[in-house]
Formats: sequence, C-alpha cells, structure tokens
Amino acid sequence: MYNITMWIYIVIGAGVLFFLILCLCLAVANFSFDNFRDKQEEARKFGVQGLTIYDFVENVNEQHLGNALRMARCAEFQDHFSVGVIALSDKTLSSNSLASFSIVAHELGHALQYRDGKLSKHWKNKHKKRILGRFFLPLMLVGLVFAILNLFGILNEIFLYVGLGLLGLALLIFLIAIYSKYLEIRVEKEASKNGIKLLADYFPQKELKICEEFLNSARLTYWGDLFRTMLGWTMLTRKSKMFD
Ligand SMILES: [Zn+2]
Repeated sequence: MYNITMWIYIVIGAGVLFFLILCLCLAVANFSFDNFRDKQEEARKFGVQGLTIYDFVENVNEQHLGNALRMARCAEFQDHFSVGVIALSDKTLSSNSLASFSIVAHELGHALQYRDGKLSKHWKNKHKKRILGRFFLPLMLVGLVFAILNLFGILNEIFLYVGLGLLGLALLIFLIAIYSKYLEIRVEKEASKNGIKLLADYFPQKELKICEEFLNSARLTYWGDLFRTMLGWTMLTRKSKMFD
C-alpha cells in the first residue's frame, strides 16, 4: 500500500514538474518574440545614408570572401545563408534601415564561418535535433498516461515501468535538445559577432549598439524556436524566428 502511494506522488510530482517547465518554455517562446519585435522596431527607425545593402554585401564579398559569395532572392522573413549563397528578401535588400543591415551582417557573419569551415557540422546537427525534438511531447504524454492508468488500477504493473521509461526518454530528449540548441546558439552568436565587426567599418558606435541589441534579441528567439519545435502542435506558441 505504501509503495503505491509513493509512486502516485512520484508520478504526480513528475507531471507537475513537466507542466511548470512547459509553461516556462512557452513564456520564453512568446516573450522572446515580443522582445525581438520591439528591438526590430527601434532598429527600423534609423536609416543609413550613403551605403546600400547591395554595396555592403559586394564590399564584404570582395574584401573578405574572395568574391566567392553569390546573392539570391528569398521570401520575406526568410533571409539566410546556405553553401556559398546569401539569400535576401526584396524587403531586406531595398531597405536602408539598421534592422536590414544587421540581418545582412549576421548572414555575412555565417559566410565568414563557412569560409573557415565551421558550418557543415552545425547544419547536420540542426537537422537531427529537429527530428528528435518531435518525439518529446508524445513520449511524455504516453508515459504519463500509462503510469497514471496503472496507479488507478486500469492497466497492469508493466505499464507503470514502461510509462516511467518513456518519461525518462522524454527527459533525455529534452536535455539533448537543450544542449544542442546551446551549441547552435554559439554558432549564431559568433555569426552576429562577425557581423558587428563588419559593420564597424561603416557605422559609428551609437548605430553599432542598436544593431548589436537587435541581433541579441534575435538570439533569444532561437530558444523560442527550440520550444516551438517541441511544443508546436500544442498551438500555444507563435512563430518565433524571423531570419536564420
Ligand atoms: Zn544565423
């Protein structure tokens, strides 16, 4: 009898803990997005005179990338860098705001990482993590249901152990996802740092600071992106990332 009571507490405790973590993750996912929008608004207010995005990319391409970088177009909010190509939306290209320069500088920062051979492993891990992340909530819920149904005497004992095993797996996936996101965010951080260095050739300190704050706020949304992958089907998260 004592044994069953103990298991009930353990399972309920684990359920409450998961629920609290879930709330925290959703809060980060949604807060980071709002914070990003605020900083983006600020960076959009400032216009740059005498330098176009196109010239900036061309200059960096010539000075740092041996003219190996190609430019391509992409849809709005999907600016990104992939093997030797910087893809920018019409909106980013035609704007002269600090927000656009920051995004482009960040992508050029990735181009420098690519030049230095730092990106291919990062891309592979990102894909693997995305697939793994999808198993998190289903494992957790099935595990919880198995364990609870056993404690109420509906399923036999084997389901309790299977349920706890599944909960353990869910926790493991959660920890792996957090760690690999941390590695990914280090790459993003370096890309932004590279980007700020590139911009320092053109912008004074005050403008640089706005760019830096904008890119920092974007980095928080990468955490939001992790939780969105894991919890997306709960429909409680919003789109949290605007560029890659
Ligand atoms: Zn990036």
